[in-house]
Amino acid sequence: MHVYRGRVFTPVADPFAHDVSTSYRYFEHGFVAVQDGRIAAIGERDNAPEGETVDCGDALIAPGFIDTHLHAPQLEMIGSYGGHLLEWLNRYTFPTERKFEDLEHARRVARAFYDELLRNGTLAALVFSTIHYEATDIFFEEAERRGFRGIVGKTMMDRHAPEYLLDKSPRQSYEESRALLEKWHGRGLLRYAITPRFAPTSTPEQLEYAGQLKREFPDAWVHTHISENTNEVRWVQELFPEAEYADVYDHYGLLDEKTVLAHGVWLTAEELDLLSRRRARIAHCPNSNLFLGSGLFPLHRVLNAGVVVGLGSDIGAGTTPSMFNAMADAYKVQQVQGVSLSPFHLWYLATLGGACALSLDAETGSLEPGKSADFLVLDLHATPLLTIRTARASSLEDLLAGLIFMGDDRAVSRSFIAGQLVSSRDRS
Ligand SMILES: [Zn+2]
Repeated sequence: MHVYRGRVFTPVADPFAHDVSTSYRYFEHGFVAVQDGRIAAIGERDNAPEGETVDCGDALIAPGFIDTHLHAPQLEMIGSYGGHLLEWLNRYTFPTERKFEDLEHARRVARAFYDELLRNGTLAALVFSTIHYEATDIFFEEAERRGFRGIVGKTMMDRHAPEYLLDKSPRQSYEESRALLEKWHGRGLLRYAITPRFAPTSTPEQLEYAGQLKREFPDAWVHTHISENTNEVRWVQELFPEAEYADVYDHYGLLDEKTVLAHGVWLTAEELDLLSRRRARIAHCPNSNLFLGSGLFPLHRVLNAGVVVGLGSDIGAGTTPSMFNAMADAYKVQQVQGVSLSPFHLWYLATLGGACALSLDAETGSLEPGKSADFLVLDLHATPLLTIRTARASSLEDLLAGLIFMGDDRAVSRSFIAGQLVSSRDRS
């Protein structure tokens, strides 16, 4: 038994659906007890069980962050400016993803990618790879090497992209996806996501194959994009004139509770109703939506429709893997729409809410007995300015707000997955 002493904070319920005051637990002088990689107990320090004690001082012990949508191969193209979604894909993304034919490049980026996530306190993520089988295999290998909780998938794409970045055939893409799924899905903390890039870059035949794979492996995830940008929505209407965007995925059997659709900025009421009935999830990526000028996500409209929402960094369209930033930008995107989210709502979306969006909430997302010990030790004095801000914090809410708006990777002292230290600023 290891007993970590510090301030302990964890969401335990959805503050959008419950009384905020009962949606979290906080112990100013608290402990987290860890045994066999799982949370054994949390509580007031005086009630801590016997065990090897690790004193974290006045650091905040909190659940690891969960990134519900990002692109591993786009790490090095962060901040590629100019152009909205469709131009941006052609100008920057496709040439960048082409480089993953080169396995040394893939290995280098995969290592940097997971190291960067862990340094930022992201302990679970839903990850796009490229169309390449070998590069995707490498993204799994490097996740496994670090003990990272990753849901990864090979991008499926067989039209409307440069020839060099297209699957050779729908059948081949299916076979490669299936081989990766059979190799990695359920191995340790790794899972597989069937990953068509988005409706415009897959032929109906390829979407048919994606649906077939989902039927063969119903517990696999489905990860794609939807309604990010108005030009994209119009394009989908031209390509699939019979139906709305969400109906296209539904038609091929790609919507259920393991489906995570990135963005959903422009969904209609009918589409939201469909997603709610299918229990599909939305990954809200505020930084990316602002960077690409895609639009303002209507969070409460989506939640009120009964659709589960998590937060994503969406790097490389997002400009940082930091989930502190995702929370801060989520706040601002709602703020300009007249809604002020509390720090408890934001922190929920970045942790337990993300776990719910990824159907991982039985296993991670909060510090509750029985769950995997996936937690962060956050330094409230990481920078001179954060020290000043922390000292004047008048409440827990205020303390969390300071971290949300001023925190970054420097505030993440240590990260643990399943009780194992996976990143430490002390070591680096
Ligand atoms: Zn994306």
